[in-house]
Amino acid sequence: MSQTPAPADASAPEKNDFIRQIIREDLASGRHAATRTRFPPEPNGYLHIGHAKSICLNFGIGREFGGPVNLRFDDTNPAKEDPEYVEAIKEDVRWLGFDWAELRHASDYFEVFYLAAEKLVKDGKAYVCDLTAEQVRDYRGTLTEPGRDSPFRSRGVDENLDLLRRMRAGEFPDGARTLRAKIDMASGNINLRDPALYRIKHVPHQNTGDAWCIYPMYDFAHALSDAIEGITHSLCTLEFEDHRPLYDWCVDNVALHADRALLAPLEAAGMAGDAAKPRQIEFSRLNINYTVMSKRKLLALVQEGLVAGWDDPRMPTLQGLRRRGTPPAALRLFADRIGISKQNSLIDFSVLEGCIREVMDAAAPRRLAVVNPLRLVITNLPAGHAEVLRFSNHPKDPSFGEREVPFSPVLWIERDDFMEVPPKGFHRLVPGGEVRLRGVGIVRCDEVVKHGDKVAELRCTLDPDTRPGLPGADRKVKGTIHWVSAAHAVAAEVRLYDRLFVVADPDRDEEGKSYRDYLNPESVKLVRGYVEPAAAGLAPEAGVQFERLGFFTADRRDHRADAPVFNRTVTLRDTWAGK
Ligand code: ATP
Ligand code: MG
Repeated sequence: MSQTPAPADASAPEKNDFIRQIIREDLASGRHAATRTRFPPEPNGYLHIGHAKSICLNFGIGREFGGPVNLRFDDTNPAKEDPEYVEAIKEDVRWLGFDWAELRHASDYFEVFYLAAEKLVKDGKAYVCDLTAEQVRDYRGTLTEPGRDSPFRSRGVDENLDLLRRMRAGEFPDGARTLRAKIDMASGNINLRDPALYRIKHVPHQNTGDAWCIYPMYDFAHALSDAIEGITHSLCTLEFEDHRPLYDWCVDNVALHADRALLAPLEAAGMAGDAAKPRQIEFSRLNINYTVMSKRKLLALVQEGLVAGWDDPRMPTLQGLRRRGTPPAALRLFADRIGISKQNSLIDFSVLEGCIREVMDAAAPRRLAVVNPLRLVITNLPAGHAEVLRFSNHPKDPSFGEREVPFSPVLWIERDDFMEVPPKGFHRLVPGGEVRLRGVGIVRCDEVVKHGDKVAELRCTLDPDTRPGLPGADRKVKGTIHWVSAAHAVAAEVRLYDRLFVVADPDRDEEGKSYRDYLNPESVKLVRGYVEPAAAGLAPEAGVQFERLGFFTADRRDHRADAPVFNRTVTLRDTWAGK
């Protein structure tokens, strides 16, 4: 991976949220010469759109200020972690458009963490405690009552050191002892009431295998990882605000920046770097309505078969958003638009959809497709008639060029564009009425052929004076509809996706109910349609606007030119606004 920071991004408008203000001050005052940030996922699940906010923030700062950004796997909890997630997370970060300066694991630093723990013991700042988890809870006190000192708090340094070494050597079973920081059992901040730094867990680790049977706790490992990497601004979500005093305690008391001997285990691997004192800054999490975002709930949706997998196009995972066709640029735009603050808020799903529309409208070529086909025969053209029409690929951007669209007398149109008994204000095709076929001319419906109750075919005449380029081409009719030539169109599977939940707050607390009860039964409809040849030939993952239907994307796994599969990424308009 490249070690040089990405160049500062000069084209984008300057962002000025409170974190960037702090960074500008720190750079101006000389407190830091450059920024160094990191994105620290735990590899216990797939990334979701909430993580995208954090990725765009950390990597965005790197780009704007020209500083390196690390990808660090926060892998201190071996029982729940898996290399499958590690690989997916790397792929997702790159897909979002970012690259890291260095790839690290908290587990790369296990030896340093351990030396740091011995240092705290030797300094009388940590002790081995034999209380059970339940007793620890009991001694901890409450928000209104101070805690009580553990009877093991006064153990001598030599005994603590001996016990810590024997914990590491595997002499004790899981949960028998912990290493605790000696801070203040009466602190108003419960996180400072002698928090655990290490626990015993005889579980193999996805990165270090069987090397360890004691594992560091999150707060200790996170603070030291940031310090080891010389992270200047450690950005995390608001629920860690109360942990900041402990974060600072770990950074200050281990003092890696002043005690490079502790970094010796990393020298050989070239990972010792410039240890520094990092500063933690909290921002609000992203919450979006009509979805659930906790990894636990997403995992349950997958495991219970309520969705087709992590990359089900209805999932808010980055894999799901990608499969659906969400352009990474739309997620970056979304992150910019929601901004960064300390206010918790719930973002409307339509804000995301709006970003997708905006990006796809500019980037997606236009094509013709019919998803609910009805045959229309033009009776006043010879049966073998065939033409090649030229259509613009983008109404607002000539650089997209033109394409050839085959036309013949037998067409597919949308069933919805014809009504035998139309309501008032229906401006498309009706018996005896006229409509414009996009790029062809005006047709009149002379005859409706039915099989039983079902309309099977419309027989129409084309007004030859209304063909493009002729003087009659401007003749006014109220409606214009799209079509594909039946002889040339390619049969396609079209997957019409919609929101996964029918209620804005599927996480609501309601007696005897869970988010599972609010799944939208119409969130996916599979239909057989027809697409013009130039759509069938699009590459997997290519985005397209099917005129009048919406923005679609060729499915990245299943689409083939001879068996096209398109996912509806987003409708043309917000269809939920009125609901
Ligand atoms: P979840 O609660 O969904 O399981 P997590 O916080 O446990 O997520 P991590 O892998 O620990 O997931 O998160 C990696 C980084 O992404 C952290 O810095 C975390 O704060 C950030 N992050 C996670 N969810 C969100 C969110 N909804 N909005 C903004 N940042 C988030
Ligand atoms: Mg977490």
